[in-house]
Amino acid sequence: MQTERLRRFQGCLVGLAVGDALGMPVEGMPRYEVQQRYGVLREIVDGWLPAGSTTDDTAQALALAESLVQLGRFDADDFALKLLAWFRSHPPDVGIHTRRVLELMDEGRHWREATEAVEAQHAPYTAGNGSLMRCAPIALRYYRDIDAVIGYSHEQSRVTHPHPLARAACAFYNVVLARVLRGDDKEAAIGYTMEVLSHSPAELLERVRAVPFKDAEEVGTSGFVLDTLECALWAWWHYESFYDALVAVVNLGGDADTNGAVAGALMGAYLGLEAVPGLWASRVPDVPRCLELAERLFRLAEAGA
Ligand SMILES: [Mg+2]
Repeated sequence: MQTERLRRFQGCLVGLAVGDALGMPVEGMPRYEVQQRYGVLREIVDGWLPAGSTTDDTAQALALAESLVQLGRFDADDFALKLLAWFRSHPPDVGIHTRRVLELMDEGRHWREATEAVEAQHAPYTAGNGSLMRCAPIALRYYRDIDAVIGYSHEQSRVTHPHPLARAACAFYNVVLARVLRGDDKEAAIGYTMEVLSHSPAELLERVRAVPFKDAEEVGTSGFVLDTLECALWAWWHYESFYDALVAVVNLGGDADTNGAVAGALMGAYLGLEAVPGLWASRVPDVPRCLELAERLFRLAEAGA
């Protein structure tokens, strides 16, 4: 049981990084263009970064994981400083919204003030997927305590994305993930989450209810947080293998690296590390760090408190 759960933790972070790397080359392409260029993309290939490179999704998720294992718990200020340190290392890509916040922090403003200023200027167009793509480590750390999963999912989103839909999507995704880590099947995990988070925005609940009935052509792939949540849940619901789910997701195009990361973390947690194709994992240099952080989060979670 312990070993099985550790494999789910590892599958989650490795799945996130592998999904990010698989989607990276087709990030921002419409579906027809992915098809024209690749037929069906099934391999980790070169894109705007060398093959196997991950992007901001993995970098921020690992920053969150590192903050959690160093402190043993979530701390918004520490997480914000880790994001700022990453930003100052001049990463190749930073999402538009997160960049606005981190630029203000880089000038010396506290994250709360920076985020408020960006929100005041750009709301309501601030419900991007930039906090959903990195939130999985909260579910890993707190999976035994659903109230903590919900509370800290909101808190980690608030650091850059305080929009209610962004926060609610992180909480929804992480509760599903926490139940999957416990070994729930799909129906049990969704049923539980719908019940515990029945007060979520109606727009979110409607999207989730429609997931079982959607075809690939109808799945959202934009950077809007509800599109990304829908895409990840859709892949998990409709596929039984990590490979099939991730090939389906990244070939939809759109925000393919983020969709790959969010779907990959959920599929990896659901199926365990063994389900992540070895050939894909072997091409992603971040995998050893994912394995190490997953194991440390597992020890913390099992120690309780
Ligand atoms: Mg990215």
